[in-house]
Amino acid sequence: MEGTRVLVTGATGFIAGHCVEELLTHGYAVRGTVRDQRTADVAHLEAIAARTGGSLEFVQAGLDSDAGWDNAVDGCAYVWHIASPFPATVPRDEDEVIRPAVDGTLRVLRSAAASASVRRVVLTSSIAAIAVGHDASRVLDESDWSLLDDTQPYQKSKTLAERAAWDFARESGMELVTINPGQVLGPLQRPHRPTSLEMIRRILGHELPAVPDLGLSSVDVRDVAAAHLLATRTPHAAGNRYICSGDHLWVRDVAAILAEEYRPRGYRIPTRVMPYWLLWTAGRFDPAARLALTFAGRRQLVTARKARDELGWTMRPVRESVIDTAESLLGYGVVRRSATDETVRATRS
Ligand code: NDP
Repeated sequence: MEGTRVLVTGATGFIAGHCVEELLTHGYAVRGTVRDQRTADVAHLEAIAARTGGSLEFVQAGLDSDAGWDNAVDGCAYVWHIASPFPATVPRDEDEVIRPAVDGTLRVLRSAAASASVRRVVLTSSIAAIAVGHDASRVLDESDWSLLDDTQPYQKSKTLAERAAWDFARESGMELVTINPGQVLGPLQRPHRPTSLEMIRRILGHELPAVPDLGLSSVDVRDVAAAHLLATRTPHAAGNRYICSGDHLWVRDVAAILAEEYRPRGYRIPTRVMPYWLLWTAGRFDPAARLALTFAGRRQLVTARKARDELGWTMRPVRESVIDTAESLLGYGVVRRSATDETVRATRS
């Protein structure tokens, strides 16, 4: 694989950054797309390339325009299409999310299909394209698709983009694999606030008086990156969707892990469950709470058995992901350390 070039779209993103690291660590050459080469924050990726001695370059291409995509895929053996809008709140106009997701995916796929070099595309979809709108009476798998009545824009965007990708792959004969992660946790590579870490950030930073009654199925970002590589290297993966996510847990379970680890270090971690009326009231002022309301009380039941059986994929324990997430939020200063923590650190150094 030495020198085999992989295109990673949206290289500045949380998951994409770890995918770049996974590829460079395994000896692939990486080309990343960014929206604007002059302003893109890629120093953390350049540092990884320097550390691994890997080949990394960037090209400019946006999901909203055809410009740059033919050039981006040229000479790449694989394309990992990861870029897609993932806002923490509900946009005013759903097309702000849906159009870049669907049209952008088709732009990337068209250029990949037209290129002589691309052998396979791995698309980062989501369990948002699988689990939305189903009741929690059974465990969902890759044969399920989210039901689009009354769905939030982001969930709709992922479902429509993945469906468009499969339609395109069928018509063009292109090799496609989708990775469908649950809520992605895990360490940051730079100081920023990825949407999927917002809940842990708010709990650790004591921004919430109590935790919302939300169910989730989570996965570590490093395991998501590993799944992309397995999807690339496993010949029989072509034509398949793979759920990469763990068992159902409640946000209060995540809070309990944080409380056990961080209360003794002076962090005020809420573990009480927020009553529905409080979430509803918060939703009048806080767009994130408004979004959470639509998922309140629902369990998230999916199975990653297919990824385990067919790709040999494994997941690290949730506790490890939660603690590593929290440590990196503190380490990068995204959440302020407690006075106790600061004192202990000062005494140690
Ligand atoms: P990020 O917001 O960190 O990354 C999204 C990336 O997409 C960024 O690089 C962003 O660029 C890029 N992007 C967004 N809109 C456009 C656009 N119009 N043109 C070009 N690039 C664009 O999110 P994640 O890393 O968490 O998510 C990455 C992918 O994984 C997405 O497809 C998401 O749907 C999927 N996913 C995420 C999960 C999670 O829990 N995190 C779970 C399941 C799936 P810029 O940096 O310039 O804004």
